Formats: sequence, C-alpha cells, structure tokens
Amino acid sequence: MELTVVGARAGMPTPGEPSSGYVLRVAGRNLLFDCGPGVAGALPGVVPPEEIAAGFVSHLHLDHCYDLLPLGKGLLHQHLAYPSGPVAPELDDAWMPVPLYVPAGSTSVFKTLQGLFPVVSSPALDRAFELAFDLREMTPWEPVDLFGCRITAMPLRHAVPAFGFRIESPDGVFAYTGDTGWTESLHRLADGADILLCEATLRTPDHGPHGHLCGEEAGRLAAEAGVGMLVITHVTSTEQEWLDGLRKDASAAFSGTIHLATPGARFAYPAPREE
Ligand SMILES: [Zn+2]
Ligand SMILES: [Zn+2]
Repeated sequence: MELTVVGARAGMPTPGEPSSGYVLRVAGRNLLFDCGPGVAGALPGVVPPEEIAAGFVSHLHLDHCYDLLPLGKGLLHQHLAYPSGPVAPELDDAWMPVPLYVPAGSTSVFKTLQGLFPVVSSPALDRAFELAFDLREMTPWEPVDLFGCRITAMPLRHAVPAFGFRIESPDGVFAYTGDTGWTESLHRLADGADILLCEATLRTPDHGPHGHLCGEEAGRLAAEAGVGMLVITHVTSTEQEWLDGLRKDASAAFSGTIHLATPGARFAYPAPREE
C-alpha cells in the first residue's frame, strides 16, 4: 500500500502546491481521494489519469472537488473520435466511466456545474461529467466492497456534510479525515490504521462551527487510535516555521512516525527496508 500526495494545500492552490488530492495504491489499483484545484494538472506527474480505478470525494468544498470537471473532460478527450467533416466527435466503445464515490446530494451539484459550460457542438463534451464518471452516492457507515477492499464513509464534523474514508484491504488499513473538527467518529475512522492521513489546518483547536483540526489533535488522534504512521495534511502555510510547529504540536501527543504531506511525497506501508 502506498500513498502519494498530489496536493496538500488547504483552500486555494499556490504555485507548485495544488489543493487536496491523494492517490492510494492498494490492491493493485490507484484510488484518487479528493480533486481540488491544481490536481488535474499535477495528477499525471503521479499516475496516468486513465489508471485511476475509482475516485472518492470527501465533501463539496471547492478545495476538494473543483478539478473533477477538467479531470473528467481530460479522460474523455482521449476516447473521442474526431471523424472528418462536420460531425460531432463521439466517444469510442472502449470508454468505461470511472466510479466516483461522493456524499449524498453531490450528483445534482456536479450536473449543475457541468451545465454551466455547455458545448453545443458536441453532445459528448456537453455531458462530460456524467460520461466520465459513474457517480455513486455513499451512505454513511455502509461499507462498499471494491477491488477486495472494504471502504467505509464516516460522517465527520465540518461546515457541510463531510466524510472521512476508511479503507480496509489485504495490504493494510488506510484512513483519511478529509476536513473535520474533533468528533467521536474520528476514533472509528482511524482505529489501528497503518497510515492515517489527517488534516491539521490550524495551530490551535477550533471550537467554532466550521470544523478543522490542529496539529496537537492530529497527534492525539494518532496516539489514541494506535496508528502506524501519521501523515499531516491540509496545510495553510508551507513556511518552514509553520510546518515545524505543526510537527512539534503533533509529536507532543504522538511518539510514532509523523510525516508532513508535500506534493509528490510517497508513504508506503510497510515501510521499505533500509539497505
Ligand atoms: Zn479543505
Ligand atoms: Zn472543507
């Protein structure tokens, strides 16, 4: 099992720093978690987009899903046949929509987004989102069996309905918080995970209605859940002082392995043996 960071930035991307996007290589497949701004452009540097076997969207905040439309259109583009003459391009028979697991209610939102950019000359591109992806709205706590993995969406505490994802596989257990404040569900999400990808947007606890974690809470969750490795993400700054502070806050509560997510970073379980 290997996690690769495409982008780890909270909110909008900055140069070289896409918003949230992660690829988990598990059970011989590539699973994409979130697809914020900048991810569609950076993804080919991690894995060919056509090799994504399924996608997962934690919640409908822009920094987690905005690049799904360009990603979808890009996938279709390679399968659009352009006959000569004034005939609209058509999808070839080889195209298989990518399963995309989303929170309830997302389908109408994405169809609305797609509808804002009509391509009247090409019915295929006009319906790019629904042709590119096979949207599957997830029910909280109801596991989905996929590629030999058991995947559970767990509702967490955020300003909009938001999932964390727990993936139990023959290769190990992976847990991803998406965006969340501190809530009891986090323990079920992270319990014994080999890799916990945990947001730590803040330096101090968030007691307001929005819902984010700080470095100390990420460390405390990792310790209480007994995880093997903590990867801190959804960072609001890439200044070294801020990052060092986040790591220090987390390590005050968790004595295990802590990494900070940066674009292109890879984290494997089990860890490769050092020569
Ligand atoms: Zn976010
Ligand atoms: Zn959010």
